[in-house]
Amino acid sequence: MKEETKLIHNILSDPLTGSISTPIYQTSTYVQESPGIHKGFDYTRTNNPTRKILENLITHLENGYASLAFSSGLAAVDAVVKLLQYKDEILAIDDIYGGTFRLLNLYKKLGIITHFIDTTCSENILSMITPKIKMIWLETPTNPTLKISDIKYISNKSKKLNSNIIIVVDNTFSSPAIQNPLNLGADIVIHSATKYLAGHSDVLAGLITVKNADLYEKLKYIQNSTGGVLSPIDCWLTIRGCQTLYLRIKKQSYNAFKIASFLEKEKIKNTCIDQVYYPGLYNHKNHFIAKKQQRYFGGIVSFSLKRDTIEEAKKVVIATKLFKLAESLGGTKSLICHPATMTHKSTPIKIRKKAGINNSLIRLSLGIENIEDLIKDLKNSLNLL
Ligand SMILES: *Cc1c(COP(=O)(O)O)cnc(C)c1O
Repeated sequence: MKEETKLIHNILSDPLTGSISTPIYQTSTYVQESPGIHKGFDYTRTNNPTRKILENLITHLENGYASLAFSSGLAAVDAVVKLLQYKDEILAIDDIYGGTFRLLNLYKKLGIITHFIDTTCSENILSMITPKIKMIWLETPTNPTLKISDIKYISNKSKKLNSNIIIVVDNTFSSPAIQNPLNLGADIVIHSATKYLAGHSDVLAGLITVKNADLYEKLKYIQNSTGGVLSPIDCWLTIRGCQTLYLRIKKQSYNAFKIASFLEKEKIKNTCIDQVYYPGLYNHKNHFIAKKQQRYFGGIVSFSLKRDTIEEAKKVVIATKLFKLAESLGGTKSLICHPATMTHKSTPIKIRKKAGINNSLIRLSLGIENIEDLIKDLKNSLNLL
């Protein structure tokens, strides 16, 4: 079976009733026949049938060994960091998601040190590997400038230098419809399912998929000990959202490519556009790595303005009608966001600029609307400058 078919049919009908929609097992506990004798479920923090269906689904999508569902993307990130011990070190991409940056800094006081480096150049990361490095943390494409790192090359080479290293990929920006990090040599994949997987901006959820039983047992123990599990109703919403993943990603990537091409043409016409960031454009710095490891180029596009001020960017983001001004991404409605004053507000200016997030940078998350309407909307807004 092809991927789209497998996705739909890996969500099994309920064996008890034949219900084609996954039942929501809204229960905290399960009746036992005699102490310890039960149907595989004893307490919902440990196990829940609705959660299990979601976990099996993402395991198939990411081609992993097993998965765990958490109450948010950051709860999943936190569980993975807890695999480490005092004095262990992490190499992480410098453009990392802001919430993960904050969390890794929090772990400093517990003695887990993270080095933030530019992983788009694979040699940077390889030259930093020592026996103390226990984990490599990648995101590709990154937020919001869409830098690409070569997952396969970095995984293979770093494991040759230190075979115990755990390679983690936060695959939120791509979703499994675009790339499968475990197939490229990673050990753990994380998703903020809040974004593309659930896909309708109506739920917070986090998922971890691992490559082997050892990592699964350790993470299952951490999850059961800390309790940040996804509720049955949120599991159901995520399962429901996932069913249209391929349709949405295809349309969102198409819309993103069209918008990026429109902006690139505007740039050449010498209008207000300065830079356009989209991995699907030939002039994107890492276009060829993206082409090698991704099936689509994704639904996010960023651009900056010639007049690089916060005021200028604000004029654009408040004027669009279809692109709604909001944080987050990956939903069916197109969103527009101004990273310097929104998602990256608390990033020190120096670090923000070093990451290429200029004052005027604007990020678009493409939804599933008609592309002509979206281009018209953005054009009208840019014409105000
Ligand atoms: C949103 C996001 C997260 C955090 O997920 P939440 O569900 O908001 O907790 C982690 N990583 C990336 C790349 C994200 O975009």
